Amino acid sequence: MSVNSQRQRLIKWVRRYPVIALSALALGYLLGGFSETDDGPIPQQIVITALYLFISLVPLGFIIAFLVVGRLGDLESAANKEKQSNLTYQDAFDLPSQIMHGYKLAMVTGRSPTLTGLTGDRYLSDAQAVCSENPEHIPPVAECECGFYAYKEFTDAQFELSINPGAFLLDVDLFGLGFTYKNGFRAESQVVNQLITPSRCMRCRVLPAKVFVTTYRLGYEDTTWWQWQMRCVVCSSSFKPSDKLTVEQMAQHLAVKINYSFS
Ligand SMILES: [Zn+2]
Ligand SMILES: [Zn+2]
Repeated sequence: MSVNSQRQRLIKWVRRYPVIALSALALGYLLGGFSETDDGPIPQQIVITALYLFISLVPLGFIIAFLVVGRLGDLESAANKEKQSNLTYQDAFDLPSQIMHGYKLAMVTGRSPTLTGLTGDRYLSDAQAVCSENPEHIPPVAECECGFYAYKEFTDAQFELSINPGAFLLDVDLFGLGFTYKNGFRAESQVVNQLITPSRCMRCRVLPAKVFVTTYRLGYEDTTWWQWQMRCVVCSSSFKPSDKLTVEQMAQHLAVKINYSFS
């Protein structure tokens, strides 16, 4: 029996105590404990002594029982606390109804355009996270960095965009096991709801962005990749048709809705 149910049982008996005490008094009366003459079946002295003992010992018994149960409760909660501190999933959402909606940045890279995180991992618009460090991991693993990340606040993602001008804003929902971290979530799987494009050309920053174009980038250690950006009519005019995609075509490739930002 748990400490809590022991405590509840004890409280039930305390509630019954007045009835028991009245019954004891009635019994004492019937046995002649309160009559002027000592003519009952049991000597008056014994009845009186029994009543005194009852009145003093029963409450004492309750007090002792409460002390014992209280102490057991303390020990139990101390043990629970110890167990809790061993849990690495302290921040996991145990409520499946918790909505992990957020914002993040992604680049669009590859000949065939693909969503690509700033750390270089490529993913589909509806994907399960994979751990690049440990194939045994089913992300997110608390002590690892794997899983899909997203900021809770749009403004946090916007700020990050201002220091990563080649990236796009994504509006995402995260699912499965999730952790909260300082500014957002890290979770098992992700669905990209929409890609938010800049309203201005990503090159001249003046004219309205109209079309996606891809350029060949040289990275460190001989790595090269194709990166897609949104440009205006002027800044995209020199591109071959095979290096251009309309917003609708890009939306189809990525399997994501594309919307212009308000700014
Ligand atoms: Zn991992
Ligand atoms: Zn331009």
